[in-house]
Amino acid sequence: MSLYYKSTRNSELKISASEAILKGLAPDGGLFVPEKLPVLDVSMAALKNMTYQETAYAVMKQFLTDFTEEELKDCIDKAYDGKFDTEEIAPLAKVGGDTYFLELFHGATIAFKDMALSILPHLMTTAAKKNHVENEIVILTATSGDTGKAALAGFADVEGARIIVFYPKNGVSKVQELQMTTQKGSNVEVCAIHGNFDDAQSGVKAIFEDQELAKELEEKGYQFSSANSINIGRLVPQVAYYVYAYAKLLANEEIGEGEEINVAVPTGNFGNILAAYYAKRMGVPIGKLICASNENKVLFDFFGTGTYDRNRGFVLTSSPSMDILVSSNLERLIYLITGEDDRKTKELMGGLTGDGNYTITEEMAKKLSDFEAGFATEEDTAECIRHIYEETGYVLDTHTAVAAYVCRQYRDKSGDGRKCVVASTASPYKFAKSVMTAIDGKYKAMDDLALLRELKTVSGVEMPQAIKDILDAKVLHTLECDADKMKETVKAFLMCEN
Ligand SMILES: *Cc1c(COP(=O)(O)O)cnc(C)c1O
Repeated sequence: MSLYYKSTRNSELKISASEAILKGLAPDGGLFVPEKLPVLDVSMAALKNMTYQETAYAVMKQFLTDFTEEELKDCIDKAYDGKFDTEEIAPLAKVGGDTYFLELFHGATIAFKDMALSILPHLMTTAAKKNHVENEIVILTATSGDTGKAALAGFADVEGARIIVFYPKNGVSKVQELQMTTQKGSNVEVCAIHGNFDDAQSGVKAIFEDQELAKELEEKGYQFSSANSINIGRLVPQVAYYVYAYAKLLANEEIGEGEEINVAVPTGNFGNILAAYYAKRMGVPIGKLICASNENKVLFDFFGTGTYDRNRGFVLTSSPSMDILVSSNLERLIYLITGEDDRKTKELMGGLTGDGNYTITEEMAKKLSDFEAGFATEEDTAECIRHIYEETGYVLDTHTAVAAYVCRQYRDKSGDGRKCVVASTASPYKFAKSVMTAIDGKYKAMDDLALLRELKTVSGVEMPQAIKDILDAKVLHTLECDADKMKETVKAFLMCEN
């Protein structure tokens, strides 16, 4: 059976999965969504015994129906291989009595973005072949720190593709910046913008929607696509690890058959938690989806009041990958709670671009009961890292700590005793300075790179290869531009002969 994709702003537009992956964003500015959310067609009893790769296939085949079995398995095998430092790919760490950290940071760039971005280039090149695309595909990416590196690693030197990454100059950690600026590859460009992540993201969206530019580039043999989580090719692979986590809890007899669990996700662009919601809709027994924000708590306010309002100060926090005021993927959820009403969705999103806010109806709000929301201040986050370290010796990164804090807060407040899976989205090595300072104030004076060695002593966890790689790598990218000059930067990169 074929599953088609439609735009959240135009239900008439129907395309195949491979076309949706190639396009990234719909021409009307909407996001592609499956016409119908599939229900798992394999039993938990079967999933219990599957490897990560087998689980990924079982989930993805139901979304990407125009890929053949051979194509999809080939993409999966190339993605989830020795680039990950464990065969489990996404191991579960049981910490304290009833919390399980789903470690999604064992890939090449030590953040959860690797879970999807190690497969996206393969899905995209396969999709290009299937659709007889002759143009070179130009991946435009805005990053709050982790997507950029994961996408660069995935697309570097991929034939038929180029990639341009924009990151906020003062909005990423030292390790994140070095990971990007030392990226090798003849088809890559990295540019720091004078602005924040939202500026980068809206700049990229504007370039996508610029039909004139698209025409101009078409003549030169280029077409744009996206590696951001607006691309359905990012979202679908992420559903797999929630299915895998549940099946592993069952296999390890941590839970009984059919037992509901809660899932807590440190949230920025709403991609990861939306994948968990899709997993629930596919039939995984998930109770609450706990949406955790840092001090940029626009989503917490939205779930509490029904009003999404981005008119507020942008806070730079110790969890920079969640410093976001416009959570793009929320549009996919909004579309669902409107009853798949494209006009209503378009109207609400128009409010967001115009006045910077919108309010959902009461009827829509009722459909959000699967979600709980909370936020952690900078102090809460640091306290959570220190507390869990002192109690258990386990070291969390700052993003994961936001979710762990909100998860505990929810449990205390509600008395909901269901076991909780916390999406652990980055290695603490990526945010060593903040993590170490949270554990002990004495580290505040030490420099970022020295702290990496110190972290090894404290956590007992080997330094990941991704960190070793940047310690003496050469900086290759120093380009900077103003947020309103991103289009010129893209053109300059594509038009130069190299
Ligand atoms: C991207 C990112 C997040 C936020 O994920 P979304 O899918 O954008 O909500 C959280 N933590 C880390 C470490 C990230 O890189």
